[in-house]
Amino acid sequence: MTDASLAARHHDRLLRAGRCGQCAEPAPRPDLLRGRPCGRCGAALQARGGADLLVQLETARWFWRVVGYGMVAAASFVAGMAPLAQVVVQALGIAVLHVLLLRRGLAWLPRMRRMMARFSLKLLGSALTVCALLVNILVIPLLGVSGLVLAGVGLLFTAIYVEAGLLLLRRRHRWEQQGLPLKRREWVLPAGLLGATLVGALGGIGAVAGSLHLLSAADIPRVSDVARWLLEG
Ligand SMILES: [Zn+2]
Repeated sequence: MTDASLAARHHDRLLRAGRCGQCAEPAPRPDLLRGRPCGRCGAALQARGGADLLVQLETARWFWRVVGYGMVAAASFVAGMAPLAQVVVQALGIAVLHVLLLRRGLAWLPRMRRMMARFSLKLLGSALTVCALLVNILVIPLLGVSGLVLAGVGLLFTAIYVEAGLLLLRRRHRWEQQGLPLKRREWVLPAGLLGATLVGALGGIGAVAGSLHLLSAADIPRVSDVARWLLEG
């Protein structure tokens, strides 16, 4: 590797860490996204390593995505042995992958846009967890195959969360780079999702109560014991 390309890599690494590539002083992220001159030394805050700074920040991280989805699927399969345990795996998987893959991208957005994006992601995560709860309830009677179904659910719901989250951040980074103000859909989306989550939660509570009641009345020894235990606990 030549000195010039090493210098370009070092320069771009500083930009990705939120600093000027020349004087290494912290630079405002909107300035970095838009490639403005540094406020200290005047150097252009633009990537030199060939790829645009946004492309560098978006480096797909395929490895962590594939490992993450695989681990959630495996844990969901194991959790499928106990009723409703997969919901916990699902919520944990979403929370951990959020920190590993999405949190850094959020930090690159200005306050209002970041709050709306974070709120949208939280609601999406909650909506997916509620859906996972509904599926978990539906598979309680299928003791033999529930692990397989839940492994698929864990993989699918986690992938939906991370891929939709990355897409959401990618678009907002572009809007920020182009200097576009907060769009109506950036706050309409969280409001819509909040409504959907409330409806889903009410449906979930109804489904839990209904199926536990049916199960405790059913004459399947193991399943009705579990349902009775859940109702009494
Ligand atoms: Zn500088």
